[in-house]
Amino acid sequence: MKIVNIVEKMILDAMDEVLEHKPQICKCDKCLSDIVAYALNRLPPRYVASEKGNTLAKAAYLEKSIQVALLVALTEAVEQINANPRHDKE
Ligand SMILES: [Zn+2]
Repeated sequence: MKIVNIVEKMILDAMDEVLEHKPQICKCDKCLSDIVAYALNRLPPRYVASEKGNTLAKAAYLEKSIQVALLVALTEAVEQINANPRHDKE
């Protein structure tokens, strides 16, 4: 049995786009992991059995409310982690 949280997949997909508009922020592994974790903790998970994951993920992508919540959480995460990185700023 394999269960996946499709919100996680959606965050990873949306992240590239969000970061593209924020060239000034640190994109090291630590910060990127923190950003994903922060955003995921602020969004209700949507678990699906992986064999049905593709179909359900597509349906979720079309739900405007999820997309909006996702971008808000992600933007907040980027700002939060950028302000308090787990390492010294350069
Ligand atoms: Zn960093």
